[in-house]
Formats: sequence, structure tokens, C-alpha cells
Amino acid sequence: MQTAVLDMKTLMQDKWKKRPLIISGPCSAESEEQMLQTATGLANTGMVDVLRAGIWKPRTKPGMFEGNGIVALPWLAKAKKITGIPVTVEVATAKHVEDAMHFDVDMLWIGARTTVNPFSVQEVADALRGIDIPVLIKNPINPDLELWSGALNVCKKAGMNQVGMIHRGFSSYGNTEYRNAPMWHLPIEMKRRFPGMPLICDPSHICGNRTMLQSISQKSIDLDFDGLMIESHIDPDNAWSDAKQQVTPEKLLELLNGLVWRHESTTAQEFITALTTLREQINQVDDELLTLLGQRMKLSDKIGQYKKTMTSLFYKPTAGTKYWKGPFKKEKRLD
Ligand code: PEP
Ligand code: MN
Repeated sequence: MQTAVLDMKTLMQDKWKKRPLIISGPCSAESEEQMLQTATGLANTGMVDVLRAGIWKPRTKPGMFEGNGIVALPWLAKAKKITGIPVTVEVATAKHVEDAMHFDVDMLWIGARTTVNPFSVQEVADALRGIDIPVLIKNPINPDLELWSGALNVCKKAGMNQVGMIHRGFSSYGNTEYRNAPMWHLPIEMKRRFPGMPLICDPSHICGNRTMLQSISQKSIDLDFDGLMIESHIDPDNAWSDAKQQVTPEKLLELLNGLVWRHESTTAQEFITALTTLREQINQVDDELLTLLGQRMKLSDKIGQYKKTMTSLFYKPTAGTKYWKGPFKKEKRLD
């Protein structure tokens, strides 16, 4: 192996052990210029350990930007050469792994839409057999810890020994404050299941906007997470994907400087974690209650409208009234 590649391998090994581990870069690698300008800006902060960029973008809706694919990998290689910072990309297939390895990508991550599919996770893990590279696995989109644990175990079984987790929040019905609800008790449970495994927070995909990034980042630090993955872009408003949640390298520096890296004692840490777990469980129950109440109100409204129509069509204060009163009375109890 060339010396430069070996040096980068050693650097990546050091970064893997560094706490906090800070990963940043654009949601998508859009052009060479955007990639290099963002990477240079991030290098100037002096705070970024690994540069990220999406090359293959799994999209929810057709017509959205699907990533530049393999043509973007040399841009990352160039960004690494200029800044000296290792790079990471998302992989979802064996071909992605092969291409990423061909361009000496230093670390990989498995996205939320891949973690939900055990076939895909197995394919990626098989492709990585015998390749010594750190891999971070995002939680699945839905709050299913068995899928997340399953993906981690598949990777470990394939012989990968540098495996970590990224918490990017979960899709949930009704919780509108976040793009993906953090449900902190779930990553806390994963920490319990996989002690010592790095756990990184991705506040960008939890928040879906810039305003909550700071508080979510701080919350993860208070919960003893091992690092952050935050999306950044040289011109966030004009980003081709996830424009609302990306920040400039300057804003990232401000955000990172504003964080308090507490070093709580183990007892204090256990107390914070237990309290967060209980609070989060209450939030969850509250959310479900509110969603159900909302659904009930809608049904109740429908009954009202239905009654109105029926009353104007059929209701006559005559002998027939008694046939209608009964069911109306029963509904009244539900209103
Ligand atoms: C991303 O990191 O750009 C991404 C697609 O994230 P997720 O898999 O969390 O949706
Ligand atoms: Mn993104």
C-alpha cells in the first residue's frame, strides 16, 4: 500500500478512538467546487475529524436528487488530499462498497433506509468481509431496535470490528416538532445493549431545520454520546437536498463552540440517563394520547356532520322520532 494511504489509515484509526468524534460535510456531493469549498471551510474550523458527503442518495419521492454517484468520488478524494481530513460516504449495496474502496474512502455509513432491510445489510456486510474499515450504522427509520441491533450483529458476525451507531431519530406519527423524533430512550437502550460501541448523534436529520441543532447536539452530549454528525454546506439555502437543515462551516464552528462538553461522574450520568428515559417514555405516551384524542375529535366531528345531514333529510318531529333518538343518544355519549 502507498505511504499516503497507510498514513490516512493510521489517522482514521486515531479519529475512530477520538472523543468527541466530529463528522461534517454536505448532505450530497453536488459538484467538485461545492465539495472543495465546503471541505476547505470545514478544515478551517479546525474541529472536523471526518468529512461526509452523500454520493448515492436514497430518495423517498421520485424526481428528487439521487446523488451524483461514482463521478463524485474523485471530488472527495481531492477534498481529502487538500485538507488532510479522512472521508466517509453512505453505502447501500455491494457495488457502492466496491466503488468506495476503489477511491480509498476511509469510513462508511449505512443509512436509515438500508438498516430497515436485512437483505441489504447482509449484502453490504458480505461485501465488507475482510476489509478493515470503520462502519457506522444509522438507526432504522422506524423505532425498531431489533432491526438496529440485527444490523450491528450482522456486521460484527461478518468480522467487522470497528462498528458504531448513528442516532438520526425515528419516523413517528403525530410528532411534528422534529423531522425525526429523537426518542432518546431508544439510543440509550442501544448503549446498554452494546456497551463500549461508539454512538454518534446526527442532529441534522433529527431536527430537519437549523434552529434546533444546538439544543439537540447539547442533549446528546449530556447523554454521553461519543460525537456528532452534522450536515454542512457552503451555500445551505441552495443545497440540492436537505437545504433547511444544513449550516455553513462558520455556523458549524459557532455551534460547536457553544456546546458544553460536560464530564459527569458515572453516578450523575446514570441519573441523567434514567431520568431522560422516563421522561421520554412519558413524552411518547403523551404523543400517542394526543394523536388518539385528535383522531377521536375528527370522528366526533364526522358524526356531527352526519347527524346534521340525516336530521335535515329525515328528522320530522312525528311518531318516527323514536327510531332516530336511540342511536343519537348513544353517539351523544361518545361526543
Ligand atoms: C444522510 O445522511 O444524508 C441521509 C440520507 O440520512 P438518513 O439515512 O439518516 O436519512
Ligand atoms: Mn441529508
